[in-house]
Amino acid sequence: MADGRNWSKRSLAAQAMGHIDSVTHAVVPPIHVATTYLRDPDNAYSTGYVYGRPDNATVREAESVIAMLEDAEAGALLFGSGMAAATAVVLALEAGDHVVAPRVMYWALRNWLANDAGRYGITVDFVEMDDLAAVRAAVHPGRTKLIWAETPSNPLWTIVDIAAVAEIAHAAGARLAVDSTAASPFHTRPLALGADIVMHSATKILNGHSDVVGGVLAAAVDDEFWARIRRVRSTHGAILGPFEAFLLTRGLRTFPLRAAAQAAGAMDLATRLSAHPHVARVLYPGLPQHPGHDVAVRQMENGFGYMLSVQVTGGATAAIATAAKVELWRRATSLGGVESLIEHRASIEGAGTPCPPDLLRLSTGIEDPDDLFRDLDTALKAAHGN
Ligand SMILES: *Cc1c(COP(=O)(O)O)cnc(C)c1O
Repeated sequence: MADGRNWSKRSLAAQAMGHIDSVTHAVVPPIHVATTYLRDPDNAYSTGYVYGRPDNATVREAESVIAMLEDAEAGALLFGSGMAAATAVVLALEAGDHVVAPRVMYWALRNWLANDAGRYGITVDFVEMDDLAAVRAAVHPGRTKLIWAETPSNPLWTIVDIAAVAEIAHAAGARLAVDSTAASPFHTRPLALGADIVMHSATKILNGHSDVVGGVLAAAVDDEFWARIRRVRSTHGAILGPFEAFLLTRGLRTFPLRAAAQAAGAMDLATRLSAHPHVARVLYPGLPQHPGHDVAVRQMENGFGYMLSVQVTGGATAAIATAAKVELWRRATSLGGVESLIEHRASIEGAGTPCPPDLLRLSTGIEDPDDLFRDLDTALKAAHGN
């Protein structure tokens, strides 16, 4: 089907690449739960399926949709979580290798890079990834093997110039991997911009229904490093389960529609909240005053994504009080689901966080944007005693 008449990504996603059940021709393929597969009489495995830890058809179906969305020639690999996907990239490096990572990034991965990667002989330096001179200065040609970037980066939605950082990485003999969870393939295609690997927490907007924990990597080139990542997934047993893969494929069918609606809602909220008397600052790359706006305009398409943050007047106390007063927004961590989520990030990130104490992170769902604004407006006023 992908080789058909150049159907658009939205069409290909809607039909999950046209996979049907070969026996019944059911338009929804069955969930493959087998842990092992018959060997051929000549001792070969002509189907390419040997054992459940590396091989599962339901997982491959979801992978084929994501590979299509990312234009990933080498394909995609699903993992049991975003963290399993991200750490697999680092675990595919050699002891002694050096990694450059962003100071502002997904907090749990930053902690792992800072506290655990060293036990595998990997050294990591953290830089402001939107400061190209700082990135250049942090790279040691020959020793740096990976630049890890995240854009827009959680929770300030800093924009990293993927093409520029890819050039720095490649000039030094390193690879660039991009955590594109907040952009999603609807808004940014890092591989087309020069990245070697793109990573998503599929827990977020790819699945979109807050009922699967999963992660994915996709690559442009099927090289030795990609083969090592595949081995890490297999030997560490980090593949996504078939039930989760089935749910993920179901979510992916509507992903382009959800992403469009959620980005439109986020833009609307960002604009209206910018004029709110109890909001000191709105962080959203779609706003002209956002420091990464110009790069975002060049590098993102179809809008600027579903994530924004607001800095509330009155500091941490007013921010926490605002989150306490919402009724439609759900007070919870995570992002990308159809339900809108609000979170006081500094509370969850703890000591050493670059997250300002007055910041509320907003994940825009698919509810009516007017309702979402009205709920926040009422909560902001109540938290400020009016
Ligand atoms: C959630 C998230 C992760 C981690 O993904 P899990 O599926 O929770 O393991 C990594 N990066 C970003 C940007 C995320 O939002």
